[in-house]
Amino acid sequence: MKKKNYLIKFHYLFILVIPALLFSCEVELETPLERSGYEEPTSHEELLDFVEDAVARSENMEAEIIGQSYEGRDIPAVKISRDGYGTNPEMAKMLIFAQLHGNEQASKEGALLLIKEFAKGNLDEFLPDIDLIVVPQMNPDGSEENQRRNAQDIDLNRDHLALESPENQALHNLFVKYMPEINVDVHEYYPYGSSWEDYGYRRDFDMQIGLLTNINVPEELREYQNEVFLPYMQEQIEGKGYSFHNYLVGGVPGDGKIRYSTVDMNDGRQSVGILGTFSVIYEGMNGRDRYAENIEERTKCQYESMVALLEFTQANKDDIKSVVEEGREELKAAEAGQTVAIETEYVKGDEPLELPLVSFDDEERDTTVTVEEFYPYVEMVNEVEMPSGYLLPYEDEQLLNLLQRHNVEITGDFIPEEYNIYRYTNVDNIDNLTVEQLEELPADVPYVYVPIGQLHSRMVTLALEPESEIGLVNYDEFEHLTEESDYPILRVYRR
Ligand SMILES: [Zn+2]
Repeated sequence: MKKKNYLIKFHYLFILVIPALLFSCEVELETPLERSGYEEPTSHEELLDFVEDAVARSENMEAEIIGQSYEGRDIPAVKISRDGYGTNPEMAKMLIFAQLHGNEQASKEGALLLIKEFAKGNLDEFLPDIDLIVVPQMNPDGSEENQRRNAQDIDLNRDHLALESPENQALHNLFVKYMPEINVDVHEYYPYGSSWEDYGYRRDFDMQIGLLTNINVPEELREYQNEVFLPYMQEQIEGKGYSFHNYLVGGVPGDGKIRYSTVDMNDGRQSVGILGTFSVIYEGMNGRDRYAENIEERTKCQYESMVALLEFTQANKDDIKSVVEEGREELKAAEAGQTVAIETEYVKGDEPLELPLVSFDDEERDTTVTVEEFYPYVEMVNEVEMPSGYLLPYEDEQLLNLLQRHNVEITGDFIPEEYNIYRYTNVDNIDNLTVEQLEELPADVPYVYVPIGQLHSRMVTLALEPESEIGLVNYDEFEHLTEESDYPILRVYRR
């Protein structure tokens, strides 16, 4: 009898106490990279498990699979929000996406560290002001191979206009669903190229941040980034012990121009900047092996730079929201006759660039080089007047699908009698481009109408104008637009 009682008690011990012990000893959350002792970047499978684990530990986090890569790997987004992302209009809505380029491993690792710290409650101070979505890995196929491009051999940071990749289609679906006010595209740059090796010195900035450089982006937004955001970030990031610079692109001094990064609307930052978004690109410094070398410092620098942006956003939330809102209102209020810069050039400043560098073989040995060929400005070379709208052939599914993916407003409502209709001719020989006015709409071609008075006003103009240096006519899959002399897209002006 006595023995039996003891057994029952023993069972209770087993059922109640041991699981409780196990629960209290629950493993502390670590990113897969941390678990490896900063030896091995996170694999896609580990990333999915980590995201699931992190989200389960926090009532403020939710995971969503936003799509699949070309090879079918899930792309998770983590929504971090006190009230539900986008439901409270007082919040600043932010989107951070990382690793568009698969061989920039620490961009992903920094984003995972950010997710971890939110999951542990260490960044709760930001929740009253910021709704955040983190997409830690945009290019899982490329990451698994540690290669820049995706499995279709597309450079995902040049695919944000044509959206040929499923990865960017997923990202832009997410973007137009929530219209974040702040957008961050996280990368790493590589300072160890052979031309720098030959030169003997290299760049050594732990973090470079690139701003909106396309001059069609609302001016106040660009000014705010330059005058308020950049100095703040420089101070914060340097204060955390990392070196910093406005993102510079170009060859070694004395061999070509040095400038700020691309104005092209097909990159991850500019593509939403043209919609009035406060959008930037992060460029941490990659390892010499473009993989795991120095990955602990790279990861922490990315993480700290993301936290610095959260700090900036919290301190300046109302200003950011109003500069974005005003920019977006300005874009929506676009009218026929306003100019859009369809061709620009980088312009030399009065002052040379004092460029700090380190010796290629000995980073303790530094120097400053005066770069005369410094082109910090962007100016218009060719402009076009916005029409009241564009007429697109209804049968051009490829074109209509693309505009729908970007959430461009397209309508069937169009009364031809109320408009003057113009057509470009000689688009197959662009130097002889001319414009003719049509008496009436071409017969037998059903059209849809894209009015210019919408958020996408400048984006649509840049995409559809045949002379636009960053327009759709530059893409193989839109070659059909310039196959014949007459441009199939018509410009219309309200009478
Ligand atoms: Zn990159």
